[in-house]
Amino acid sequence: MGNQVRYSVIIPMFNEEAVIDETYRRLKEVMYRTGEAYELLFVNDGSKDRCADIIRQYGVWDTTVKLIDFSRNFGHQIAITAGMDYASGDAVIIIDADLQDPPELILSMIERWKEGYEVVYAQRMKRNGETWFKKWSASLFYRLLRASTDISIPVDTGDFRLMDRKVCEEMKRMPENNRFVRGLVSWVGFRQTALEYERDERFAGESKYPLKRMIKLSLDGITSFSYKPLKLAGYAGTLLSGAGFLYLLYVIYLVLFTSETNRGWPSLIAIMLIFNGFVLLMLGIMGEYIGRIYDETKGRPLYVVREFSGGEKPATSVQRRTVE
Ligand code: UDP
Ligand code: MG
Repeated sequence: MGNQVRYSVIIPMFNEEAVIDETYRRLKEVMYRTGEAYELLFVNDGSKDRCADIIRQYGVWDTTVKLIDFSRNFGHQIAITAGMDYASGDAVIIIDADLQDPPELILSMIERWKEGYEVVYAQRMKRNGETWFKKWSASLFYRLLRASTDISIPVDTGDFRLMDRKVCEEMKRMPENNRFVRGLVSWVGFRQTALEYERDERFAGESKYPLKRMIKLSLDGITSFSYKPLKLAGYAGTLLSGAGFLYLLYVIYLVLFTSETNRGWPSLIAIMLIFNGFVLLMLGIMGEYIGRIYDETKGRPLYVVREFSGGEKPATSVQRRTVE
């Protein structure tokens, strides 16, 4: 309806009044340089400070500014999801509000997008001004994630990225609640490429990701792309009951050929080994079922089509999943 925007920039913010003026200024400068129409979609994730008021003020005279104002804090991943739902650009860019992701990189992302890439993600080569603990835990997490999942989620990559409209549409079909957005983008596929950059220090304010939230995000990441942890009981069960069986043979040997055993001990050991092994094995089998149930309940589409050519898509297409 006339106001076609080419780029949507999504900026999640949670108590960012100390940086938001500067973020706005830097983003305006960068987006102006594209020479094309854009929107700045700020998502206020239940901030307790004035950052939403500041954005609302800018919106009075700047029609590129839009504000999604959450009723409470829903978390970073939900905030960027809402941004994608509201975005209307041909390319959608997600960037942190704290200027740790340099807005100038957006121009290079757009360049790559115009070359035909559908996802351009920013990969951190270096993190400036963060504690060794944050760097160490983040690095450990990305490697753990890589080891446990079947799809390849790039390491050291946050949510700072550009997505083509097609990718954004697919993201809207993901109904899951515990979202790990960067993983979902990898899952969706399409032509993806990395841009390397140095992560800057926070412009002002402090991290809104305390340890507890980092752990929650890591667990979301690992559990939504792998049920290897569930299989652990199965592996342990197989291993332990194998070892238990061998030990049982040894106990039988002791009973039959030596006099080193106390009365009652062999039967007790036998019962323990047999039953513990059995319980662990059953847990493992249950793990397999629970894993499959989990897969089904995630409700992800079975496949993603980039383009269908050579005819009309049948009107009565298969509806396996209900999409709201
Ligand atoms: N954020 C959010 N909701 C939250 C926590 C954070 O929208 O509950 C935003 C925050 O304002 C910032 C981005 O998510 O724009 C990344 O957060 P932060 O910079 O605190 O994380 P860090 O860079 O320390 O990992
Ligand atoms: Mg930050």
